[in-house]
Amino acid sequence: MTTATSPNIARLGDAARQFIARSRGLYIDGAWHQRDERIEVTDPANGANITSVARGRAADVDLAVAAARRAFDEGLWAMMTPSERGKLVWRLGDLVERHADEIAELEAIDNGKPVTDARWGDVAFSHELLRYMAGWSTKLTGETIPLSQPSPFHAYTLRQSVGVCAQIVPWNFSFMMAIWKVAPALATGCTIVLKPAEQTPLTALRLAELVEEAGFPKGVFNVITGYGEEAGAALAGHEDVDKVAFTGSTEVGKKILEAAKGNLKKVSLELGGKSPMIVLADADLDVAIPAIASGIFYNMGQTCTAGSRLYVEDSIADQVHSALAQHAKDLRIGPGLDPDTQIGPLVSAEQRDKVLGYVASGIAEGARLLCGGQRSGGEGYFVQPTILADTTSDMAVVREEIFGPVLVTATFKAGDVASAVKEANDSIYGLAGSVFTRDIDKAHMIAAKMKAGTVGINTHHVIDPALPFGGFGQSGWGREMGWSAIELYTELKSVGVALRA
Ligand code: NAD
Repeated sequence: MTTATSPNIARLGDAARQFIARSRGLYIDGAWHQRDERIEVTDPANGANITSVARGRAADVDLAVAAARRAFDEGLWAMMTPSERGKLVWRLGDLVERHADEIAELEAIDNGKPVTDARWGDVAFSHELLRYMAGWSTKLTGETIPLSQPSPFHAYTLRQSVGVCAQIVPWNFSFMMAIWKVAPALATGCTIVLKPAEQTPLTALRLAELVEEAGFPKGVFNVITGYGEEAGAALAGHEDVDKVAFTGSTEVGKKILEAAKGNLKKVSLELGGKSPMIVLADADLDVAIPAIASGIFYNMGQTCTAGSRLYVEDSIADQVHSALAQHAKDLRIGPGLDPDTQIGPLVSAEQRDKVLGYVASGIAEGARLLCGGQRSGGEGYFVQPTILADTTSDMAVVREEIFGPVLVTATFKAGDVASAVKEANDSIYGLAGSVFTRDIDKAHMIAAKMKAGTVGINTHHVIDPALPFGGFGQSGWGREMGWSAIELYTELKSVGVALRA
């Protein structure tokens, strides 16, 4: 147990510091419930203590699910018009934007990520997604269906909320992953029990305060902080939960499926990835190099869509490798709260050691270290941006998700695009991919052939509130964002009206 208090708390703005001083419990049925059992929250930049949060257990999950059930079945929320609901979701977006600096600082000290990325990536995306989803509230229409058999019915469909939703999110984009799930669930009239990752619980608790301030009825949104195998497992297995939405590792995703089968609750899964990037010899390297670097090093590689495998046409391999290595060395490493930081610490000592273990295993299996490969700084969980060249498809560093700032590269023979695509698709995952070329025919051909839920052409991270997001293969089930997310949180009902002859 860490006892020292993080000196970085002093760098926070007043609002974030005051939030940390408030010591929140569990948020259930519109009230805060303290618990004596606590989970320590640490600052990854130095390993020191920030605060602690309540350790929610199965009995707390029961209370939260019961509150969400009551809010769904009875009372104000159940009676609200779509337009009233949409206004509340929009207001929540406004509040997130108003408190954006504070939320970004909390995310930066809790997760370690650069505060500038948190502010203009995670938080800005979140308030825009809330507004985008608010617009769907009034557009949940069914259809009038012409029947295919001679039938004495007039028939139509209703699109209705799926019900009580368990939402379990990871630590890498704690606030944004929560909003990806909360926004469509609220817009469609569902009620929610959210469980943030035990490593990064702070912004979910701040979100609960903002939900209350926006004016949502009690019980609509509940937060249980706690460990995955306790609170998370209890939520995923709960008999009175209608849907579980999970973002996290593929390994835990399979456990969620197992837990969900008792009452066959609806399941959506956003899981891991090992996303490939292909560079053809005709690529514009002024565009490709920064895009590839950001593809892997953004959020220190702790991004589900991270472009963690690179396939380069052999005639430009040396040029690409040296430009990428130089780019990696130039990235500024520092605490997330420093506005100039580009590479913060990894989220935990465990994650740092896991990543360094992968680097060592890659080198032991014959990969060539182009840059990085070491811890950085005397304290905290920093790892240098790392590139391993000459990798082969049987190496663990190529097959497994490292979830750190480590790029593995391989080359393909000039003109042999087919083999590059084959290598790129040789993975259990299928979350994202990208291709860098000036040849528009090849770009679209490769985009069509890649086994991935999202493909970038001359860019890697492609993401927007309106674009469906999700994975092929073992990267998940279902699509978040856009209309697809609305489908995840609604059921279709057919209604037939008997017509008198
Ligand atoms: P994780 O799977 O360890 O944990 C995710 C969440 O699940 C946490 O809240 C955790 O407490 C909870 N959990 C753990 N065990 C559980 C159990 N038995 N039952 C119920 N809940 C349980 O993942 P992580 O380490 O927090 O995050 C990293 C992973 O998330 C990576 O694999 C990454 O690719 C993935 N991810 C995917 C996406 C996507 O959209 N596809 C986005 C972000 C992260």
